[in-house]
Amino acid sequence: MTTQSQPAFRRIATEEAFSTLEQMEAMREVMNVHSGYHPDFPVWRMIVESEMEAAKVVRGRLLDIGEGRVRIMDEHGVAVHLLSLTSTGVQMLEPAKAVTVAKQCNDLLAAAVQRYPTRFAGLATVPPQAPAEAVKEVERAIGELKLNGLVINSHTDGEFLCEEKYWPILEAAEAMEAAIYLHPRAPNPLMAEAYRTDGLEHAIWGYQAETGLHALRLITGGVFDRFPKLKIVLGHMGEGIPYWLYRIDYMHALTMEARQRRELNRKPSEYFRDNFMITTSGMNDAKVLKYCIDQLSADNIMFAIDYPYQLTEDAVGFLDEADISHEDKEKIYHLNAERIFKIPGA
Ligand code: MN
Repeated sequence: MTTQSQPAFRRIATEEAFSTLEQMEAMREVMNVHSGYHPDFPVWRMIVESEMEAAKVVRGRLLDIGEGRVRIMDEHGVAVHLLSLTSTGVQMLEPAKAVTVAKQCNDLLAAAVQRYPTRFAGLATVPPQAPAEAVKEVERAIGELKLNGLVINSHTDGEFLCEEKYWPILEAAEAMEAAIYLHPRAPNPLMAEAYRTDGLEHAIWGYQAETGLHALRLITGGVFDRFPKLKIVLGHMGEGIPYWLYRIDYMHALTMEARQRRELNRKPSEYFRDNFMITTSGMNDAKVLKYCIDQLSADNIMFAIDYPYQLTEDAVGFLDEADISHEDKEKIYHLNAERIFKIPGA
């Protein structure tokens, strides 16, 4: 594989996590206050306090938005990490605390991008539980800090962004032309009970089920009739939705009256093709990629690793070796990300 000297492709990875001491400390406080089980705590305990070797490596890599990260990128021929504050962002914090930590993390992120302008780009963290402050932060992060888009980690206190109280955030994102990366977290505590017996509430199934449902609720809730230019990005090859488009359209129309659904201007699949982008994060499966190109076109798919939770070599190896055209690889590796996130070309 060509790596060190001249990579075969300019590779922009679009779902790459970092953390800060402020976020970790805030989450430690949350876990100290809530002593019982919460579906997002196992991963947070791994991140902030586990002494297992693998967890310590992840912790160190999350906190490094500098030299060490760039070295690993170079080892595998990755040009750019589009960084986002690791899930659950600030969404488990009290509203005032969430606003403060979001600002701190966005400032740190912008500083890292300034230090490495050709190697890092960034998605701003948004505190949905404080909608008015969130709007201000969207305007600051995109307008002043020049970050490249937004990240929201699925539900906030069990609510999805289709609730009208969150629409000012969507309105601001559309106005600033900032795509929202709808990143997973575990289903809310009530829903997660059904997954918990066999430990299915995290990346094995729960994240995808939660985030896919959230994305579908944005469509059926009429968000894209109200905000037709809004762009939502889904990881993990679209959180299952590309596989299900036929049935969503069919059942949406068939049961429209019986289920008293909201009237939409278009078919659900049409919004999915026009208002959504998907990424390859954590789904290094060439057969699924080929299916998604067929369903959505290569113009709607971007490369992602899910660093540091999954391995850079697996993500690069899978896409390098995928039996798809060179032209499609160029789109997926960098051209689409440059367009959607306004990342300058090389
Ligand atoms: Mn991720």
